[in-house]
Amino acid sequence: MSSLETNEKLALRRRHLPPSLSLAYAEPLDIVRGEGTTLFDTAGRGYLDLVNNVCHVGHCHPRVVEAGARQMRLLNTNTRYLHGHVVRYAERLAATLPAPLEVCFFVCTGSEANDLALRLAHTATGLGDGSSVVVLDGAYHGHLSSLIPLSPYKYRGAGGPGRAAHVIEAPMPDPYRGPHRGPDAGRAYADELGTLVAAARERGESIAAFFAESLLGCGGQIEPPAGYLARAHEHARAAGALCVADEVQVGFGRVGSHFWAFETQDVVPDVVTLGKPIGNGHPLAAVVTTRAIADAFANGMEYFNTFGGNPVSAAVGLAVLDVLEEEGLQANAAERGAELLAGFRSLAERHPLIGDVRGRGLFLGVELVRDRETLEPAAAEAGEVIEGLKTQGILLSTDGPLHNVLKFKPPLVLDAAEVERVLATLDEVLTEVERERALA
Ligand code: PMP
Repeated sequence: MSSLETNEKLALRRRHLPPSLSLAYAEPLDIVRGEGTTLFDTAGRGYLDLVNNVCHVGHCHPRVVEAGARQMRLLNTNTRYLHGHVVRYAERLAATLPAPLEVCFFVCTGSEANDLALRLAHTATGLGDGSSVVVLDGAYHGHLSSLIPLSPYKYRGAGGPGRAAHVIEAPMPDPYRGPHRGPDAGRAYADELGTLVAAARERGESIAAFFAESLLGCGGQIEPPAGYLARAHEHARAAGALCVADEVQVGFGRVGSHFWAFETQDVVPDVVTLGKPIGNGHPLAAVVTTRAIADAFANGMEYFNTFGGNPVSAAVGLAVLDVLEEEGLQANAAERGAELLAGFRSLAERHPLIGDVRGRGLFLGVELVRDRETLEPAAAEAGEVIEGLKTQGILLSTDGPLHNVLKFKPPLVLDAAEVERVLATLDEVLTEVERERALA
């Protein structure tokens, strides 16, 4: 393999990759190696990666790499043969979930997982694909043609076609920008969903599923207020819908206090979809559901997925679980997350740009505003903060429908010294951006 200069990569990319694929940063990064929390560019410069929630147990974790390589040397087939890894992995995954979630379907991406969850709902409810689906405003569930309509983040955004007729869009349970605050906010948001569901039923719609990220990612790192999901599930189930928890971003110990983010809301979904972190960068994803739903899906049509659950993927998945447990990474997410939250809150006392600080574990958001009264979003400033941090060797991204939320979702191996560095550097960069904007 010949190595290419950065400008040659850029030229080839422009010629042969689609223009709808974006590159991060004004000056793109040319990354060639990853280790732990750090990415290295062609010049050997290290960047602390606070973006990559996929390389959950650290970039290129040697145990995960070794498990995949060992299995690749031995055998890679599909799930039509018996293999110890895939059944052991299913057993281990099921053990992390509350009963009655115990049957695992293996796929390769989060989008595939959500598409399959939708099919499970269509089949298990008997309502078929003409039925409606409830989603939350701001949600993203994947890039497939079945999922863009379930993703307001996409269908409402640039180039999006708007809401499809079969989609019921419930308000984002956002206690910062939304209308409801205080101890009853969860119930109030859920009851708004209930009202929309009841109206759809009156129009004669049948509802197969309610999809929700347990904490919203692309929606801007939003944690629904307490009691929200339990009541929203009640409304959805009363209408006959299955409740799908999309844990593609937030599952697997990231929220620190719990292994699954839906557990923070005291619910047990009917279907859980997993992706990104479970393969630590290897394309592994899954749908976990109940025996009853899996049985209803077995209506005669075979489920087969060429790559899903192959022995190499299963070996990788097992190694990721081992590392998570043995290195105590869920506890680390809780501790480092608490330090970051406390640090952001104290930065908010000095930096008027910070409007809100939120999240759990290592899934955190800092929302930037130009004015704390009007909540005017500071999207351009958020972009400047991201570029400023990059200059200091820290990678971060923005998200949310207003593009003004700094989104923290690093590998769970982030350490205390790195937390201090992040807080000190963010302090400097915010000071600079505020000075330029004369906000300080
Ligand atoms: N669900 C959520 C919550 C996601 O954040 C994503 C990816 N950003 C997906 C589903 C889709 O996953 P994938 O890109 O692996 O298809």
